Amino acid sequence: MEINSIIRLQNRDGGWPYRTGGGSWTEPTALALLAQLATTANAPSVEAGLNWLRAGQRQDGGWPPSPTVAQSTWVTAVAMLLPHEVMGRAHYERGLDWLMGQTGQESTFVYKLRNELLGNTTGVAEARNGACMACFMALRPQAMAQVRRGEEIVTCDNCNRILYYAPSDPAPANSGSIQPKVAHT
Ligand SMILES: [Zn+2]
Repeated sequence: MEINSIIRLQNRDGGWPYRTGGGSWTEPTALALLAQLATTANAPSVEAGLNWLRAGQRQDGGWPPSPTVAQSTWVTAVAMLLPHEVMGRAHYERGLDWLMGQTGQESTFVYKLRNELLGNTTGVAEARNGACMACFMALRPQAMAQVRRGEEIVTCDNCNRILYYAPSDPAPANSGSIQPKVAHT
């Protein structure tokens, strides 16, 4: 595809659409800019495209698929393919911060553990409110902190189950009806 035919598809707002005549979206805009940077960049077209992208960056540093979507998504990674000296250092760093803050479900400790133990979930227990939810023995504060971090495998001192932490549970501390026993250690 001739680079000029890409430039001709640019919208008046500076972005590019997925289809001729459509609204501007982050992904085709970033890809059109990359194509120009890789060949013969048309300065006014590139500047308009960059301005459209910069204006679309959200407060949290990420990019939405289009201005009509109020959420930062994976397209942030596509926008971040543009060199930082082209995007502008501040925009680039904010985007990087957003990307570094993302973790997929597949990378969580709990997910990996459940895969490991598929078909045999008796060896795991949730750690909640400072106690093992299988035997209800209180956990050492240090063990609870390790489980929360999820960087290593921590087992219950009492029942030896592998502990996991479910951060999606918004229950405040001491709200449960279960009174943990005190460990004699
Ligand atoms: Zn236990």
